[in-house]
Amino acid sequence: MKKLNTIKQIANINGFSSSRIDNLVASYTREPKFKKITTLKKITKEEGKFSKFTYIGKSSSKISSILKKYGIKCVYGNSRNIKDKLGGPKDKPDKFKVSGIYSIQCSDCPLKYIGQTRRPIEKRFKEHVNNVKNNEHWKTHLARHTIEIILDYIRFNW
Ligand SMILES: [Zn+2]
Repeated sequence: MKKLNTIKQIANINGFSSSRIDNLVASYTREPKFKKITTLKKITKEEGKFSKFTYIGKSSSKISSILKKYGIKCVYGNSRNIKDKLGGPKDKPDKFKVSGIYSIQCSDCPLKYIGQTRRPIEKRFKEHVNNVKNNEHWKTHLARHTIEIILDYIRFNW
């Protein structure tokens, strides 16, 4: 705080407002939090608004279309979590047509969502995606977590 006040005094003398310094400090303290909670890669202005994340089939294009509204273009990387755990839709189509217990691993943090459905897993998965799309964060912890990541990403970059 003492250092910050000194910086502000110097800034004020040089014609910068204290709030501008506060904003700068805030942007620095936000950065580590961002790194901790999201897989969306921070991008420099030069690279453009591209976000790399794991391709998880049809749902990925839905997520892309949501992010597109915010001017983020999605670039898919090789999966390291969701696909490994569930198997890709191309390799094992039957896995998604049956009911049962499924898990969705967050690709950035150790959180894993475990769900159970009497309907085909792919149908339930579409609901999860729609929950995110419709900002229904109260529906599941999965929806809340995903929405938080997206919002934090947007807050950080804009
Ligand atoms: Zn997570």
